[in-house]
Amino acid sequence: MTDLCPAVRTVADLRAHVKAWRADGLKVGLVPTMGALHHGHLSLVEAIAEKVDRVVVSIFVNPTQFGEGEDFDAYPRTEETDRTKLAGTPASLVFAPNGAEMYPAGFASNISVSGISDRFEGAARPGHFDGVATVVTKLLLQCLPDVAIFGEKDYQQLAVIRRFATDLDIPVEIMAGTLIRENDGLAASSRNAYLNPQEREIAGQFNVILKQLVSDAEKGMALRKTEAKATDALLAAGFKAVDYVSIVDADTLEPLETLSGPARVLAVARIGSVRLLDNMAIGA
Ligand code: AMP
Repeated sequence: MTDLCPAVRTVADLRAHVKAWRADGLKVGLVPTMGALHHGHLSLVEAIAEKVDRVVVSIFVNPTQFGEGEDFDAYPRTEETDRTKLAGTPASLVFAPNGAEMYPAGFASNISVSGISDRFEGAARPGHFDGVATVVTKLLLQCLPDVAIFGEKDYQQLAVIRRFATDLDIPVEIMAGTLIRENDGLAASSRNAYLNPQEREIAGQFNVILKQLVSDAEKGMALRKTEAKATDALLAAGFKAVDYVSIVDADTLEPLETLSGPARVLAVARIGSVRLLDNMAIGA
């Protein structure tokens, strides 16, 4: 029989585990996920385990962060495989609630973060960050971890989470996990599985083109010019559309005219029906 990481499905059971660990003086970490775990997710488990004694991985495909016509129904649900993968990591417990546990009848609250969630993914996916902020707030309050980790893969999401955790005085350290890539540099993502072999090959050009943008920007090319050059290169490589390629302040995500401190390029390009996200540090 293969080992499975133990799982609980209710907030009460999760809290009972956390309470027992705390009684033993142990530090607790939380890794929120939607499952379909890949090496990017597992790297978050390894990274947070260096800071805490017990790691909880939540697996919940959160309906409220998917828009009309997005892939909520098609999103891969692979809990048993996920728990098998986690059995080989420092994870102690999976928290896998169902929809009714997270959103019982009568649920009527919403966490909305203005400013930092307005542009980019917030503009492309109305309501997405409200869904993320609300579910992550709930997960943080359900588990009350010392540390919670989120991947730089979803760079704007990380910034939104940092914002509301600070604004709402949630007593948790928000940790950033490095963006993990496949061998050809494509950012690891559950949605890469939607790509056919030809699309997958084109997708491998995304990070190559962004690396060129970073190099151009660091050499002093005008930032708008680097963005336009990268957009043209993506379309020439076979991407169907480019939603945005934007150089922003690494903390506020405000678009920059010139480089004066830590910056980041945020980009989304589409192949077929798949939106691929990537980002890279500039001048780090
Ligand atoms: P998801 O299951 O897609 O909601 O992702 C759960 C967490 O894993 C989020 O904090 C993501 O940013 C993070 N994550 C997803 N892919 C990667 C990756 N390639 N590298 C690092 N973190 C990732």
